[in-house]
Order: sequence, then structure tokens, then C-alpha cells
Amino acid sequence: MLVFVINCGSSSIKYQLFDMPEKRVLARGVLERIGETGSAVLTHRAGDGKWNFEVDAPDHRAGLDFILRTLTTGETGVIKDLSEIKAVGHRVVHGGESIREAVVIDADVEAVIARCAELAPVHNPPNLMGIRTARDVLPACVQVAVFDTAFHHTLPKKAYLYALPLELYEQHGIRKYGFHGTSHEYVAVEAAARLGRPLSACNLITCHLGNGCSMTAIEGGRSVDTSMGMTPLQGLMMGTRSGDLDPAVLVHLLRNGWVADAAELDRLLNRKSGLAGISGIGNDMRTLEENMDANPRALLAVEMFCHRVRFYLGGYLALLGTCDAIVFTGGIGENDHIARAVVLSGLEALGITLDADVNEAMIRGRTGAITTPDSRIPAFVIPTDEEGMIASRTYDLAK
Ligand code: AMP
Repeated sequence: MLVFVINCGSSSIKYQLFDMPEKRVLARGVLERIGETGSAVLTHRAGDGKWNFEVDAPDHRAGLDFILRTLTTGETGVIKDLSEIKAVGHRVVHGGESIREAVVIDADVEAVIARCAELAPVHNPPNLMGIRTARDVLPACVQVAVFDTAFHHTLPKKAYLYALPLELYEQHGIRKYGFHGTSHEYVAVEAAARLGRPLSACNLITCHLGNGCSMTAIEGGRSVDTSMGMTPLQGLMMGTRSGDLDPAVLVHLLRNGWVADAAELDRLLNRKSGLAGISGIGNDMRTLEENMDANPRALLAVEMFCHRVRFYLGGYLALLGTCDAIVFTGGIGENDHIARAVVLSGLEALGITLDADVNEAMIRGRTGAITTPDSRIPAFVIPTDEEGMIASRTYDLAK
């Protein structure tokens, strides 16, 4: 069965076409700069081929039409006819409290996604647009939504509530929801397989460290705490997001007129902070590490990033009491041996003994332990596969 996975952003569509259940990727790509001045740009890969096209895509509908033509025609094509695609899996960021797992999309599900746009204004509206566009263009397909928040539906109240007046939760849904759930769940399943135990018998700490970063404490296979909050801004320091800070800072900034309004505050916290805000030279960890010997701000940004990860690691070790494995994933988690070494060094008393050489040799795409064989708690690097997970969930529901 062919399953088409779509991750629709405000100006982009990422896609992968899977042959299920083998999870064979027939084609994948990303269309960027949709609706922006000048042409959109499609990067498409199939087999050993890679193509770049400039595309006239004033909106997502035009963009998706072009992607589907690319899949069906000429040398870029991998299928003869769109009718070969039987299901579409959509990544949806926010499913609120009511959605606890992947679902076939109907009017009720769409209404929930629309309502949750209030909590995820950057992500849910384009996700919904992707769903509506795909339904128009591929009307015979089952449409499935897989939610970033779903894996965290098991958070206990003591973990998801903020210490605000309870009415704000009851009336407005102000609470921690957590994100990156598909990635945390995927690497947790893989880690359990490595440990040779069912996931339900595993306590894990999963670290998704990419441009967005979050960590999750998993007890008996269930998410019991996670570092992102009501929105993906809380928790760790990220590429351009501040992560945790004293909420009084926001009051102070507004009261003194150092930010004009909520929109500017939002930009400051989500786009101008994090690694980019501290280093002053960008949000890319590679650039910071290349410059950290000569540039004290780049060094400071890397040190702060690792400090926060260690802080959450310690907290989650205490929350869980016992931990069977720590997992690193995401662009930084999978590739950055420097950050991993800073995070895990000197933790022998807590049962974690890093193998520095193995860690350094663990490069892109590799999976494995980076701790010594006698480390009481192993740490693994496991490349995430959110699209593959979405394809599996979609296949399960569609078949
Ligand atoms: P993601 O959002 O998961 O694609 O991750 C993006 C982040 O991964 C960026 O900050 C990149 O700088 C970082 N990254 C990718 N490759 C490396 C690498 N080899 N070393 C350090 N950071 C990396």
C-alpha cells in the first residue's frame, strides 16, 4: 500500500512516499518558499536522483499539485497514477487534550485541529490547510492525522498543570501539552528493542535535540513529563527559542516598553533568542562549534545549551528513580559528539559512563551506545524517523 506523508508548514510542504508495510521510501522532498515573492523551490529525491525545480506556487494547492505531478511524470516519477496512493498521513502539531492517538480525519477531528490553532498559531493552521488541500487533490485517499502532542497524553496532572489559578486550565486549556511526541515515541520503541524488553517495562529519558529541542521522561513506556509546554517554547534552549525563563522577565520587558506588544514579544522569544540570541552569529550548532575557540559568545551559547540539557537530565533521573537508557536524537543529538560529551561527562556517580572514543566516532545515521559496556545506564544515539512513524500509524488505520 502506498502511503503519502505530508508535513505542511506555513510556507513549506515536506513529503515522503512510502511503500508499506515495508516502509520503503519511493520518493521524498521539500517545497519551500510557497506564497513568497519569487519562485518556490522544490527539492525532490527518488532512488539515486536529486532534482531542484523553481516552481510557481502562490499557495499550498498549487504546490501540492506540482509535487504530485513530479511523483507521476518524467524521470522524477515513481508511480504511474495518483490512484496508486491509498492513504495520506499528516503531521499535526497540536491535538489538545481530547486527541490521544493517530486518527482518521473527519469533520470532528478538523474542528479540534482548528480549535487548537489558538494554542499553536504557527503550526496548526498550515497543518489544516494541508489536510484540506490533500483531500481536494486526493479525494479517494484515507486521510490520517498524527499528532505531536498525542504521546504526551499520559502526563499526570501534577506534571502538566502550571501553578496558576486552576480556572485558567479549566476555562482556557492553559497547561503543558508537550511536543515532538512522534519522535520521542519512535526512539523509545527503538531503545526498548535494543534493551530487549517491551517498551512497557522501560524507563527512559529521550532527548530530541534539533533546531527545536525537548526531553521526555518515560516511565513504563509512558510519557510522564516533558520539557516543552503549552507551546514548543518552554524548556531547553533552542536554535532561536529562549526555552525556560522567569515569567516576570516578560512583564518587565512589556512594562518598560522594551518590547512594544505581544507580537514583538513572541518574535523575541521564538525567533531571536536561544543559540542565535546568545551567540549573535546564528542558530546552527555546527557554526557555533566551529567558532567557539575564537568567539566567546559562540562558546557561551554552546555551554548554556548543554547546561540546560544536563539540568533536565538530572531532574528526570530523579523523577524516574531508575532509568534503563538515555537516548539522543535530532540533528544535534544524532550528530554532535561535542554536545553529547559535555552533557554526559562526569556523571559516573549517577551511573553514566561515557565512552569518549565511541561517542566521537558516532556519526550521522549511525545507531548505537555511546557509554561503556559497564555503564549502569546506557546512552544511545538513535536517528529519529518521524515520517516513517507517521506512515506506520497511517497504514495501521488505513488497512
Ligand atoms: P534538526 O532540526 O533535527 O534538523 O536539527 C538541526 C540542528 O542540528 C542544527 O542546529 C544543526 O546545526 C545541528 N546539526 C546538524 N548536524 C550537525 C553536526 N554534525 N554537528 C553539530 N550540529 C549539527
